Formats: sequence, structure tokens, C-alpha cells
Amino acid sequence: MDSPLTTTARDQGSLLEAILTSVGDGIIVFGRDGQLRYANEPAARALGATSMDELLATPLGEIVERFDVMDEEGNPFPESRLPGRLALLGEESPPSVTLRFRIRATGEERWSIASARPLRDADGNVEAALSIFRDITHLKKAEEAQRFLAEATDILNRSLHLDEMLTSFAHLAVPTLADWCVVHRIGPDGAVQPLVLAHANPEKVRWAEELGDRWPPDPNETTGIAGVLRSGSSELYPEITDEMLVAAARDDHHLEVLRSLAMKSVMTVPIPGRDGVFGTMTFVASESGRRYDERDLELVQELAQRAGFAVENARVFAEAEDRAHASLVLSHVDDGVFLVDREGVIRLWNRAAETITGLSARQVIGHQLRDAIPGWTAVEALVPVGATPGAGDNPVQAVPLDLGNGEIWVSLSGVGFEEGTVYAFRDLTAERRVDEMKADFLATASHELRTPVAAVYGAAMTLMRTDYVIGDEARTRLLEIIASESDRLTRIVDDVLWASRVDSGRLTLAIDRVDAAQLAIGIVSAARAHLPPGVKITFEAPESSPAVAGDPDKVRQVLANLLDNAVKYSPDGGEVELRLDAQEGRMRFSIRDEGLGIPPAEQARIFEKFYRLDPQLTRGVGGTGLGLYICRELVRRMGGRIWVASGEGPGSTFFFELPLSEP
Ligand code: ADP
Repeated sequence: MDSPLTTTARDQGSLLEAILTSVGDGIIVFGRDGQLRYANEPAARALGATSMDELLATPLGEIVERFDVMDEEGNPFPESRLPGRLALLGEESPPSVTLRFRIRATGEERWSIASARPLRDADGNVEAALSIFRDITHLKKAEEAQRFLAEATDILNRSLHLDEMLTSFAHLAVPTLADWCVVHRIGPDGAVQPLVLAHANPEKVRWAEELGDRWPPDPNETTGIAGVLRSGSSELYPEITDEMLVAAARDDHHLEVLRSLAMKSVMTVPIPGRDGVFGTMTFVASESGRRYDERDLELVQELAQRAGFAVENARVFAEAEDRAHASLVLSHVDDGVFLVDREGVIRLWNRAAETITGLSARQVIGHQLRDAIPGWTAVEALVPVGATPGAGDNPVQAVPLDLGNGEIWVSLSGVGFEEGTVYAFRDLTAERRVDEMKADFLATASHELRTPVAAVYGAAMTLMRTDYVIGDEARTRLLEIIASESDRLTRIVDDVLWASRVDSGRLTLAIDRVDAAQLAIGIVSAARAHLPPGVKITFEAPESSPAVAGDPDKVRQVLANLLDNAVKYSPDGGEVELRLDAQEGRMRFSIRDEGLGIPPAEQARIFEKFYRLDPQLTRGVGGTGLGLYICRELVRRMGGRIWVASGEGPGSTFFFELPLSEP
């Protein structure tokens, strides 16, 4: 066929027609009576007719009824302001306007820029108006898509919590992009799990969730969500037909429900993940009447890519957070924890491990365990290593661990895993020490008990003898032995009783005003009554000493005990001095002796339960190791403090302070 432009024989009308039809813009001519005179092909199509002739045959009222005409914001556009109307009224070049048309039948929206010119007759009267509509739907959609993409990216970047992020994202998509937005993921068991379901109407969300529970996606399906999850390829269904629903329905009821969803168009895209597909995003157009095309699919694919990045970020963040929590726990747990890899190299050494062993993480991490802990090889075989944490398969043992800088006792156990073994240990050195001291105590106490019992028994047996006459002097001497040895026995038993009373918290105190000087004088004179040879007691107190706030019996007990010790630990004799000094609201009692003294390193420990400097009794001075422990507890409970000073010269000085009584 000849081209209309080169054909000179064709009449102007048909040439014009050819031109008007070939332009992309819709062209419409209205007469003054408002009747449609002419519409080119694009205009006819845009107005919902299959051809120009069909459109011209349709009454104008009916055509108008097919659309909602709106401004850019979606508000109704007044007909009187349409450029065609203004041109009919004689306006030469009415301003062009951007219009939004919603096709009522389908809900689909289109955008146009409309402009118009008046058409005049030979006399210059307006006879008709020529309107030109330029379809800018794709531009608007691209603009919208860009805006949406920016907003969605912002949402995806803003949150680092997976669920929160995908939920906000899905809610952004609804209703801008879809009536429904559903996100699925592959569960650990391979099942398809719904993560988020969004629709503008919460009622519908609940309903759809119930449907999802009732007819969950079949993981073996080759198309749809399961198909996309498996293949990683997107699916676009521009038009959902009833046949498709029939094919997808599991039963009649399901079909009914699917039909009631009124899906028009659907897209499902994969969300990429670190190890393959993480999940899918499905966009469903229903009541909006929207139809998805390739361009929409491109947009959501881009979105899914970005969501994939964000999901990955969220995952990395969650892992980092988990790790941070774990390391926080590790650094605050009371037990020593360390990790040894399969090559026997220490990879982790927590803070408690540092404190308990005195070996810093820097010193040991990266080193072979057997080099870092010299005693490891000796105990390794004794350390139980289980396969399941907390299963308690192997009994934990207390083992001595040589650290190179000393030995500690620990209860140690391990749990093996693919990459090595995690060991946890607890310092039992103190408990072990108490156990050892308890053993010493039992040995000493039995000796301590046996000696006076033997003496009492011996004296009593002698007194009972009838084969010879015991003189008065000897009898008195024997009775004195019985009395003093019984006293010694009582004291040992008392110590044990007091210690257990202190431990069990059954100790009651009756704080009162105590005349400390008076009390001290009584104790000194009682002690002087049976002093061993070579020991002398002196006493010094201020002229008028203020009253002390304390329990008189307990103050007496502490003082007597300290004086007793001072005498007892002066086996070679010497002076024992008791002094009272009131200062700064406190009364200080000091008991100084010239006896055996206490090495500085031991001074802190002598107040511990059962602790004795000489458990083997090499100096022949017996005791339970409980006296100072009881003293410390009593003084503490009366709000005071007790300590010892010993060093220069022979002997030691014990101090204790108690608050003064309110006047
Ligand atoms: P004990 O019954 O063994 O005397 P204590 O608790 O009273 O128990 O004293 C604990 C240890 O402190 C004693 O075993 C002794 O080694 C040491 N000690 C206590 N008082 C003195 C002192 N005045 N001089 C030297 N050592 C002392």
C-alpha cells in the first residue's frame, strides 16, 4: 500500500484521518451541543470501546458513566474545568491538566494530560472543541514505583529485626502496590511458613490467616509459592481466570473461598538469601482491579533483591547480637570457661577463668592448653567430657591444677562439639582448704579432747585407789587437775557449739551499755588466778572510760578468748598487756603479748574457721582453730572490727573496736 503522505491523489480528509490514527495521543472532538463528533483509535480504546465507530455509536452519558475523573490527589475533577469545556466556551488555550481516570468496571486507574483548543467556523464562532489526551500512566507508575522503592528501601534499612522489617514492608506495599501482600519463608523442616500477611482491612487478614491454616501451601507444588521457593524464578499472572482457580482449588469449599477473594492479578517473587532462596513475596490485586504487567514484576523483583539484602543484614545483626549476648554472659558468669579447638589450642578464655587462675586471656589464647596450664597433662584423663551440655553424663571431679604459678583445686568438666571442647570450671580451693582444715581440726580436737579426758580419768582412778592412803595435799592436787581439765574440755565443747551457732545464724545479741573497764578488770583478775609461770598480765584503761554499746556476755567472751590466746601462745612466758582507749566514738581494746607472734602472711587467715598456724602442735599449744573465728563474728555483729598486728619484735597485738554507747 502507498504511504498516505506520498499519495497526492488522496483527499485531505483521509490523510488527516491516517495521521490522527497513527499518533499515540487520544484525540476527541466535541460539538457545542456536547455531542462527541470524532475520536481517534487511541481515544476510543482509552474510553473503553473496541473501535472508533463503536464509541461514536455509544451515547455520551453512558461513556461518562464508565469513569471517575479525578485530579492528581484523587479528588473528583469538576467537569466545568475540563479543558474541552473551557475551549467550547471560547477560551483559546485553556491550561492543560493532569487527570486520573478510574475505570469503574475494573477499578483500573490511568493517567492523562489533557489539553484542548476551540475549533471555529468561518465566522470565528466556536463550533467544537478538540481535546488531546496524552496517556502518562506508565510515567506515573514509574514515578510511583521509584517513590515506593525508595520508601521500601528506607523501611528495609531502618529495622534490623527480620519480622518487624518484613511486616513494615508488607504494610507499605498495601494498598499502593497490592491489595494483599504475603511473605513466606522456608522453615527449618522445609515447610512453607507464612511470615507476614497484610491487607488494609484487619478483618480480612484474620480471615485469610485462617484460610492459610486450613489450606497451607503444598510444599510439593510446582507453581505458586512453593514452586517459586524451589525454583527461585518469579511468577506473574496478569489475569487470574476462573479456570486457574478451579485448577488450584483443593475442594469445592476451597474453590468457593478462592473465588470470594476476587483475585485479578498475582505476582510472586523470590527473596534471595545467603544459601539460596530465603522466601517469597506475593502481591495480589483484587478489589483495586489492578492488573500487573512486566514492569510491575520488575519493580517487585528489585524490591525482593533489596529485601534479600536487608534480610541478610538482619540475620548478620541477629547473629552478632546473639554473639554479643553470649560473650556478655561468658564474661559475667562466675565459672571459668575456656574453649579448646581440635588442635588443642585455647581459643577462648573468659574473665572468670582469668580471675580464678591468674592467667590473662592474652597469655593463654592461641597457645596449646598443655603449655598454658602445666598441670593439664596430669589431670586430663580425670576430666569428664560429655557430648550434651547439662546432661550430667559424667560425674565432675575436683582435681588439683598446677598453673605454673601455684596450684588450685577445681571442679572441671567439658562438652565436646564439632570444633573442639568447651570446659567449665569452678574454683574449689577455698572449699578444699576448709575440708583440709576440718580434717586437721578433727585430729587436733580428738587430741585436745583425749588429753583432758585422760588426765581426769587418771586423777579419778588415783583418788579411787584403796591400796594406799592419799595424803591431803595429793588429793587436793588431783581434784584441781580434774577441775581444770574439765574446764578445758568444756571450753573445747563450747567453741564447737559457738561456731555452729554463728554458722547457723542462731546467734542472738542483746545490745546494752557495757562498762568496758569494769568488765576487763573482772576478766584480768580471773586470768591472773591461774597464770602459767613466767607470764604476767598488766591492764591499763583511761580514768573514766565511756560505756560501750555491746552485748556484755559477748564482749566478755571475746576479751577472755584474746587474753587466753595471748597467755597460751606465750609458752616461754612474757608480759601480756590489755589496754582500753576511747577514740572517735569507738572503744579500742588491745591485747599485746610477747609470745610466738604471727607471720604477716598468715595474719588474715587466722580468723578463718579451723585455721591454726601449727596444726601439728609442734609447739605443743593445742586449740580448735575456732576461737578467733567466733571472736570475729561476734565483734562484727556488734558493729565493730577486729584485726591483728604482729611483726617487729616478738609477740603480737590483737585489736578490736566497738562503738561507744550513746550518752
Ligand atoms: P586456737 O584454738 O587454735 O587457739 P584460734 O582461732 O583462737 O584457735 O586461733 C587461731 C590460730 O591463730 C591459732 O592456732 C594460732 O596459731 C594463732 N594465734 C592466735 N592467737 C595468737 C597469739 N596471741 N599469738 C600467736 N598466735 C596466735
